[in-house]
Amino acid sequence: MNSPEIQILLTKLISLTNEREVAVLELSLAQTLFDLIAPLNVDAHKSVSIYHVKDLVKLEFTEVVLGKEPNGPEPLADLKLRLASCFSSGEVFSCEQSHGHTLALYPLNNSTGSTSAIIAIEASVVPHEAILMLLKIFQNFTCLINDNERDALTNLLNRKTFEAKINKVLSAMYQATKRKDDKSEALHYLAVFDIDFFKKVNDEYGHLIGDEVLLLFAQLMTQTFRDTDLLFRFGGEEFIGVFECTSHVDIDNVLERFRRVISHFEFPQVGKVTVSIGYTAISAYDASNHVIDRADLALYYAKNNGRNRICNYEQLVADGSLLDNKKEGHVELF
Ligand code: GH3
Ligand code: MG
Ligand code: MG
Repeated sequence: MNSPEIQILLTKLISLTNEREVAVLELSLAQTLFDLIAPLNVDAHKSVSIYHVKDLVKLEFTEVVLGKEPNGPEPLADLKLRLASCFSSGEVFSCEQSHGHTLALYPLNNSTGSTSAIIAIEASVVPHEAILMLLKIFQNFTCLINDNERDALTNLLNRKTFEAKINKVLSAMYQATKRKDDKSEALHYLAVFDIDFFKKVNDEYGHLIGDEVLLLFAQLMTQTFRDTDLLFRFGGEEFIGVFECTSHVDIDNVLERFRRVISHFEFPQVGKVTVSIGYTAISAYDASNHVIDRADLALYYAKNNGRNRICNYEQLVADGSLLDNKKEGHVELF
């Protein structure tokens, strides 16, 4: 047990499993794989890339490369097709290249079984068995992270994770303001979603059917919003979304589209259900509890003014419908 190779491998596993962010873990895995294949390949031509799909329909990918310069902003057409097929099949792909190298594609599957990224290895010697074992360890570990971060019923992020995730957003916004290089001028919003009269659903159809409504509601959120939006189940029938938009009109449209999707959806047995939404703009100097308080005030207003509607805190203050939360101090609503 004291051979240097085992020690090196264990050291790599320790550093790999030290990460808690799946995106960082993916990079760490790629680095470990690169370190693993580098000594086996005497020639300079070896690389490990990670591909994330930006848009599968248009076959657009983002690429991070270790070991050589990337091919350019986009992979070659032939490789794009192989990546697309690997994303959809979730199966390992390997082929000999004309110059005697092997190209191997390994899909990284998340806990729900769908492919989140692809590791592409191009080298003369690819230690296939060892890579498959490392991928197994990686996948077991990402499942553990997932179980810890996500709600068991809906698979959305859970309340426990909220503080860490929102603080990461706030800190990134603060850093961008400090550097004054936020060229994208991205605006961030937090919305609280609360299903209307949900108690009645439970009372009339039972808790199990109620749970099914929650699950379908969460699935509709996932389908309607973008992959990059942070979606949480915050409490029983209360959900939170953190969105990055380029204009205020965007967030209005995005939330209105979702409100409409819910109001038109036929929930099995229950039929129609509606949602009330309160949202607020997030600023770089915000505190997470203040953001939640403002969105909650807007939600409370939506509930008291007919439900099945969207209210924006800043708009309500501008209209004089609500006093500015900062002047009122901390308000506990729910
Ligand atoms: P409002 O329109 O004012 O939001 O009314 P409401 O009935 O939706 O709100 P209320 O807060 O009175 O009720 C929320 C209900 O959500 C009560 C509780 O039984 C139910 N609930 C909370 N967690 C769960 C869960 O995990 N599963 C199910 N089925 N129901 C839940
Ligand atoms: Mg409710
Ligand atoms: Mg509620």
